[in-house]
Amino acid sequence: MTSPAQDPSRIRFALHGGAGDPPPGNGAQPERRDALRRIATEALALLRGGASALDAATRAVELLEDCPLFNAGVGAVLNRDGQVELDAAVMDGADRRCGAVTCVSRVRSPVRLARAVMERTPHVFFGGGGAERLAAELGLERVEPGFFVTEERLQQLRAAQRSGAITLDHDDHAPCDDDAPFGTVGAVARDAWAHLAAATSTGGLTNKLPGRVGDTPVIGAGTFADDHSAAVSCTGTGEAFIRSGFGHALHARIAWCGWDLERACAEALEAVAHYHGRGGCIAVDHRGKVALPFSSRSMYRAWVEADGVVRVAIGPGGDGG
Ligand code: ASP
Repeated sequence: MTSPAQDPSRIRFALHGGAGDPPPGNGAQPERRDALRRIATEALALLRGGASALDAATRAVELLEDCPLFNAGVGAVLNRDGQVELDAAVMDGADRRCGAVTCVSRVRSPVRLARAVMERTPHVFFGGGGAERLAAELGLERVEPGFFVTEERLQQLRAAQRSGAITLDHDDHAPCDDDAPFGTVGAVARDAWAHLAAATSTGGLTNKLPGRVGDTPVIGAGTFADDHSAAVSCTGTGEAFIRSGFGHALHARIAWCGWDLERACAEALEAVAHYHGRGGCIAVDHRGKVALPFSSRSMYRAWVEADGVVRVAIGPGGDGG
């Protein structure tokens, strides 16, 4: 298959920093908005400079992992034992190459490791000790697990353990079956050659059982990309996104049924609700449409459509310029 000629007007981009229900008066909102804008602006500059969708999405997620305000990398939520267990995935829509890792706690950038799995091994998915060993063998930066732990997440874990809840990110008050905020970070991009890519990274759920794997690294659930349909990155109740096969279901509705992106996303989120989950996704399709739907009360997000303007919003209705 030959690639179309480069055309910067094809560029689109979106990222998310988790869906949910931030408590009123949450003091970190301005910082989160600033971080989303800064990272989206950097990704847009990369795409305009000729970067691939895969490079832009990977880099945006790497920057989000390094930002302690979101549930990935530094600032990730803690499991029942007070440890971080990080999941990440990348997928290239041009040829469906993909890479994913789960339950890593010593790799500075899980999304970079997922990318290395895709590009430097014959496999697509590594977990736990094998993933850590691969990171060491490939020379990726490694850190002590404490590197990722923040005081806020320790407090969140203690609160969750007092109430016996398994909670989602930004959640100060509710268990995962109610209006709790979610976490996870992700990015999707369409480059000047009309190729699509998706990347997602997460710490999962606060107080989760050790070894639990969510939707983020499951290709076809929380992360998916195909140039014939869309690139998508999800956030929310991982178990329900896995049960609904979110990413691949979105692909099937667009590529096989000819649905438009918005309808396909709405239907996919209905399926998540059917399996008792909530959350949202960011998606860009093969025509350059961008969708950022969510069934929670809010989703931290930034995006760039055809006009090239970076927009940032948290609540419903695109509340930010
Ligand atoms: N989807 C993630 C998981 O289940 C959590 C989240 O988005 O907050 O691991």
